[in-house]
Amino acid sequence: MTTPSAPPIIVWFRDDLRLSDHPALHAAARSGSPVLCLYVLDETTGRAPGGAARWWLAQSLRALGAEIAARGGSLILRRGSAARVIPEVVRECGARAVHWNAIAQAPHQAVERQLEAALAKLGTDSQSFPGDLLVPPLAIRNKEGRGLRVFTPFWRRVLALGDPPKPLPVPKELRPPAKIASDRLESWKLEPLKPDWAGGLRENWTPGEAAARARLRDFLERTARLYVGDRDRPDRDGTSRLSPHLRFGELSPRQVWHAARFAAAEDPALGHGVEKFLTELGWREFCRHLLYDHPDLATQNLQRNFDGFPWKPDKKALAAWRRGRTGYPIVDAGLRELWHTGVMHNRVRMVVASFLVKQLLIDWREGEAWFWDTLVDADAGSNPVNWQWVAGCGADAAPYFRVFNPQLQGEKFDPDGTYVRRWVPELKDLPAKLIHQPWRATPIELAGAGLTLGKTYPQPIVDHARGRERALAAYANIRKG
Ligand code: FAD
Repeated sequence: MTTPSAPPIIVWFRDDLRLSDHPALHAAARSGSPVLCLYVLDETTGRAPGGAARWWLAQSLRALGAEIAARGGSLILRRGSAARVIPEVVRECGARAVHWNAIAQAPHQAVERQLEAALAKLGTDSQSFPGDLLVPPLAIRNKEGRGLRVFTPFWRRVLALGDPPKPLPVPKELRPPAKIASDRLESWKLEPLKPDWAGGLRENWTPGEAAARARLRDFLERTARLYVGDRDRPDRDGTSRLSPHLRFGELSPRQVWHAARFAAAEDPALGHGVEKFLTELGWREFCRHLLYDHPDLATQNLQRNFDGFPWKPDKKALAAWRRGRTGYPIVDAGLRELWHTGVMHNRVRMVVASFLVKQLLIDWREGEAWFWDTLVDADAGSNPVNWQWVAGCGADAAPYFRVFNPQLQGEKFDPDGTYVRRWVPELKDLPAKLIHQPWRATPIELAGAGLTLGKTYPQPIVDHARGRERALAAYANIRKG
């Protein structure tokens, strides 16, 4: 048995804000040394989180701090470059080692190398553990040693590797080291105060590991059965809503994997739903692997022939899109859902993204940046990969000629208009046959719904057929070039 004053091991928490299935923490706790849990707000590494993600981070750190305190420890908070701050903490507490879970992203790997060098100079051990992926990127390569750019063969290769290792349990006890100073979370100003725009986020989410596990359980018990049919329906509660929990590592993908496979083994009626759900988890993995090979995904077209694409910057149209005032109900509903809750249904993400890049010919990077700032699940891999996929310039991209028709998408996936009525309340009294095309309503129908187009709800900011033709012409040039 060591005493609390024995040299501790520092566990550096990053995008893995949980105690279960945390390889770095597990190894430190098992060693019998006191464990110092440390989170460093490093705004110099990688992409600085947007506003909604900062809000989530604050809640998640609070939840993690409470879990650690319940086990006798405390979460120490520091701010600055991790490669500089962590060696300072080592000196303060006389740590004998630093443990962390690896992040397979170029800027994070660069910091890990700098930190290892700084720790070696101090004579302090460093150990990194498998990170937050089912399979490390280097395990899935083609004959030339490059990562795969098409999802189906990628996922086949992942499945062929069999089940990932079983998740690790929460350490029973965290022997606390002698106390050292911590920043106050509030001093980081992660949460908005004036104005406090986070009311919708608070209403909709409970960040933290316990809530993440409850949500996974609830999904497998209640929703997974109908996932295949319901996942495309924004009017139904048909998906897991686990993305922000996964983004911040409150759950690991292998925990999700094993829980889902276990549930399907117990109840074969879940089989199809679980397989489809795991395939979606596979997309998250695919996006992370692409990011490993292409660190500049958020700024560079993966298909470089798109570099000369004739985007049409249009501040007014972009502002209307951001605020959910395009005149297309499903598009506006999605963007308002995003603003209020910090997420948007996947089907609607595709529709609003297609609308921006194809109907408005606005550069996909504008939309990606808006999502980055407003999504609680904003992810350095998934966000740019999906935007590039919709724009047609990415990996395994949607065919250039697929221009979603927002009206038809609405009619197909929100047939009664429930989703639109919820997020665009000024349209709520329109009958279902008009709710996705209010511009077709007669003056009597408009008056019956208390609607004045152009006043209480906008006229479409672009004509779908004209927008589509313009997009196809622009894309045809790219293909020739
Ligand atoms: P479920 O259907 O329950 O899926 C389970 C999990 O699989 C998700 O939690 C997520 O981790 C993963 N997943 C599902 N679909 C995708 C996908 N297409 N790409 C990558 N992972 C996926 N997802 C993010 O997590 N962060 C983002 O920043 C993000 N940006 C997007 C931008 C655009 C333009 C589009 C079209 C999609 C984006 N997605 C992003 C993917 C997807 O919309 C969300 O993961 C999904 O809506 C989350 O809801 P859920 O957890 O209920 O998903």
